[in-house]
Amino acid sequence: MTTLLNDLRALGIAPSDRVALHSSWHAIRPIEGGPEAVIDALQQAMAPGGTLLMPAFRDHLQEPFQVETTPSNCGLLTELFRRRPGVQRSLHVSHSALAWGDRADWIVSAHEEGRTALGVDSPFDRLAQLGGKVLLAGVGFNRNSMVHVAEAHFGVPYRNVAWSEEFARPVDYFDRAGVRRATTIAECPGCSEGFGVVELRMRRDGLLRDGKLGNAPAMAMLARDLIAAVKKMLAESKTALLCPEASGCPYCPKARAACALVA
Ligand SMILES: [Zn+2]
Repeated sequence: MTTLLNDLRALGIAPSDRVALHSSWHAIRPIEGGPEAVIDALQQAMAPGGTLLMPAFRDHLQEPFQVETTPSNCGLLTELFRRRPGVQRSLHVSHSALAWGDRADWIVSAHEEGRTALGVDSPFDRLAQLGGKVLLAGVGFNRNSMVHVAEAHFGVPYRNVAWSEEFARPVDYFDRAGVRRATTIAECPGCSEGFGVVELRMRRDGLLRDGKLGNAPAMAMLARDLIAAVKKMLAESKTALLCPEASGCPYCPKARAACALVA
């Protein structure tokens, strides 16, 4: 625990911070106390006050979404966090968010009534509005959801190009009263495999703090610095965040076509 806390302090995580974590337990382990010790250390690092946010997204949408029971597909730490007392979960059929701490209620309430997945005023954006930080532990920028928030702030031409047919269709879910309903995903986030270019830009500009969490390399940054950097990159080129043309990505050619329409 002490070592993990030292790792977090070295990354600049301080009392009252609000932090969005993307993580790979496989990269962090082995740790004395196991994965629960990592979550304990994060909560301890930001106490008193502070808010911890994690994704609880789904890879597939066949089953109706149930806010109390649908598992997270974002790794072991997120699934254990989801089951903790005091952790709030947002009601979004594909991009549900988990939050614990002083602003958790406000952050998860951003998703009620079928609002945008990772867009303006989504839970991740609300964390940015609060001066929050992003912490990547054992994962790269291709897992950094705040880049999608920045795409939404810029208004990328491909924001209505659905990730896949599955994500373009209506999705069933149970509302807070337990009533089965269906909704379509507004501004479904697209491909994130090209987001490594944002890391290069932020590193060049001295906006990343490197360190480690357990055995994993880790990076911390201010969400507002990330959003500003991405908006600058997109102003230079609307296709800046997309995969190279010959990559074989099934999504990015559709996004390029949407960009060409507004060029
Ligand atoms: Zn792509």
